[in-house]
Amino acid sequence: REVKTIVFDKTGTLTLGRPQVTDVVVLEGDERELLRLAGSAEQGSEHPVGKAVVESAKLRGVALSAPDEFETVRGKGVAARVGGRKVLVGNARLLQERGVEIAVAEADLVRLEGEAKTTMLVAVDGQLIGLLAVADPIKPESAEAIGALHGLGIRTVMLTGDNQRVAEAIARRAGIDHVVAGVLPDGKVAEIQRLQAEYGAVAMVGDGINDAPALTQANVGVAIGTGTDIAIESADITLVRGDLWGVVSAIKLSHATFRKIRQNLFWAFFYNLIMIPLAVLGLLHPALAEIAMASSSITVVTNANLLRRADIRGRR
Ligand code: ADP
Ligand code: MG
Repeated sequence: REVKTIVFDKTGTLTLGRPQVTDVVVLEGDERELLRLAGSAEQGSEHPVGKAVVESAKLRGVALSAPDEFETVRGKGVAARVGGRKVLVGNARLLQERGVEIAVAEADLVRLEGEAKTTMLVAVDGQLIGLLAVADPIKPESAEAIGALHGLGIRTVMLTGDNQRVAEAIARRAGIDHVVAGVLPDGKVAEIQRLQAEYGAVAMVGDGINDAPALTQANVGVAIGTGTDIAIESADITLVRGDLWGVVSAIKLSHATFRKIRQNLFWAFFYNLIMIPLAVLGLLHPALAEIAMASSSITVVTNANLLRRADIRGRR
């Protein structure tokens, strides 16, 4: 009930989490070779964008080979050895870290990310060979559910490992107030702590492995039921269908529950305030006292049961 700020993860929470490759930009060599190397490198990846790359290569009939070495760089991408060649697939941070020159891709990056597409750079043996952009459509209910939360006086924040441009493009479409982008998995917890210090109780909604610590840190952790088990495990609330209207319902239910608690405290005190002085003065027959005791219990339990009638629907 005290939550006034709700933090949303991007991929799989505000978006469907089923990204698909929409653009392939070849800087060197040809498209099939680019997809073969990137697809092979991503085969061991658990990340939705990695899976999208594998799927798109297979869809185009490109034969993939198992990488000899494979390393996931959390929140950045993957590094693998494919047929004796060192392949990197990931964001600008990953490639810069590994000493790959990426200036030639800047214009394409700005264009694709401005279209809300997460863009991965592909390098082979330290040389940039192309870009792969994936689009992950936002869930059909995201914008309306976020609007309903704003109507309840709640501030919304998006927290993502993706970069600022993509994050802002998605946030604009979902109607999110604030964007915190480029956060590494460990940084998500620190960001929740910062928001708690600034705004008090914070709820976090997330689906992924990277979100589990943040879900625990938040005052209320909400897991998307269609997400990973570890997220569900760490959360206080699970939205079984992954529908964001469930967040609106949870907030409304908390308000309705507190209304009942206040009403029931009133009834409990009401009976006692009248009956105890009467009993002390000797004006209350013991049988009446027993009846009053039972009535007070019945009133309170019946009132609590009426919570089932409370309108907590999100969608109208
Ligand atoms: P989020 O769940 O908010 O999208 P992550 O921390 O999981 O954030 O990922 C951040 C970014 O790192 C992604 O947007 C992507 O650019 C890059 N990345 C992560 N995993 C991979 C991967 N397997 N292949 C390529 N890029 C990746
Ligand atoms: Mg995620």
